[in-house]
Order: sequence, then structure tokens, then C-alpha cells
Amino acid sequence: MVQRRPLVAGNWKMNGSRSESATLLDGIRKGVSAASRAEVAVCPPYILIPLTAEKLAGSPAAWGGQNLSVHKSGAYTGEIAGPMLRDYGCTYVIVGHSERRTLNGETDAVVAEKYGAAQAAGLIPILCVGETLQEREANQTEAVVARQLDAVLDRHGIASFRNAVIAYEPVWAIGTGKTATPQQAQEVHRFIRSRLAVRDKAVAENTRILYGGSMKGSNAKELLAQADIDGGLIGGASLQAEEFLTICRAA
Ligand code: PGA
Repeated sequence: MVQRRPLVAGNWKMNGSRSESATLLDGIRKGVSAASRAEVAVCPPYILIPLTAEKLAGSPAAWGGQNLSVHKSGAYTGEIAGPMLRDYGCTYVIVGHSERRTLNGETDAVVAEKYGAAQAAGLIPILCVGETLQEREANQTEAVVARQLDAVLDRHGIASFRNAVIAYEPVWAIGTGKTATPQQAQEVHRFIRSRLAVRDKAVAENTRILYGGSMKGSNAKELLAQADIDGGLIGGASLQAEEFLTICRAA
């Protein structure tokens, strides 16, 4: 029987002043040891990572970035590289979030490149995949998710998923308050795992697949009870310590 340790990761997006973030981090730090089974992580905006490292150092909680450059260093004004995130103690980095795919034009190829850059820097990528409402209504959910996944699998191989996490985030559920039903989510999670299993059964069994999209304290338990849902990538509900910790405890 495979034991995948659940991971609940907060994606703060572009939110938080220094003082708000300090309060949030103090709250998480206080509650996290009690939040037993799941691994807990937060992904604040870049500029708040030093504060996060300071506040969470020595606690069981991990932290990560929301994005990274494909490059290691150099003349890339405004960019942040994987080794810089590692230098500040990041364990994870989100790659291919739908907001970056949509608003920053990140293609499957760019996302695959970032995934590789993350691993090269010793970071664990949280690879986001997911369909839009239009794609779901056109019955293309599996085709879209397969395409997004294969872009990374073809480039970096199945073995790379030993050091990666996948997040299934239906675009129509992100920040909309419209959560996928546990059954809808489970169906796609199972599809993702089967897609990995075609290449390597053991890797497929061990890879954590998180759900993201309006997950909150009140619906987390049902979603997390599904066989192939191994945690959550939490946006809005990760901005309040108690709400976030409720999700962590449900995992
Ligand atoms: P949400 O965002 O929980 O606010 O829907 C999830 C995400 O975008 O990672």
C-alpha cells in the first residue's frame, strides 16, 4: 500500500504587506505542529520570501516561490532564478500556474523549461495543469491535461517526477468560488496518475497530485478523501491562518 504524504501548499499570489504577512506566518507557525499528517508549505510573493524564511525557520513548514526564471543568472531584468530561491531556503516552486500561462503567455514549452530549471536548482516543482471552462464543455479536459503533462514528460522523462508534485487546477474553479465536485476532481486525478503509470507504475503511485481551485475549510475534507487527491494548492483560503490550518488538518 502506497503512502503518499499529503501536501497542502498556500499560493499567496500577489497579496500581503510585510505586517499582514508576519501575522499570517506567525499564525501558521503556531498551528503547524498540531497539523499532523500533512506537509505544509507556503508560496509568498518573492519579496516576502526572506521574511517567510525568517518566520518559518526551524518549523515543520516549508516555503517556495510562485515562479522562476528559466535562466540561472545574468542580464534578465526583473527576473528571479531558481538558485536564488534555494539560497533563501525554498523547497518548492510553482510552475505553470494558469495565471502565468494566461497572463504571461507561458507556453507548454516554457513551463517544461521552468520545470527543468527548478530541478536543476534543487527545487521541487509544483507543476500546474488544468482546463478552462470552454475546454471542459467541449469535452477536452483529458486532452488538455495530457498535452500539458506530456510537454514535461517528453522533455524531462518520467523519472523526473520522483522530485516533483502535480497540481490539477481547473481554471474555471480558480478564485471563482466554484469548486470541482470531489468526483469531477477525482476523475481527472485518476487520469493524470494513469498517464504517468503508462511510463512507470511506481513513479505514478508515489507522485503527489494536489487539487487547486476554491478549496477551503468547508470543502477540503470531501476533496481530500478521494483516492487520488493528495493535498491542495490553496489560493484565497491560504491568506488566513485559521482557514489554511483547517485545510491542513483535513489532509
Ligand atoms: P483559489 O486559487 O484557491 O483562490 O481558487 C488556487 C490557485 O490558483 O492556486
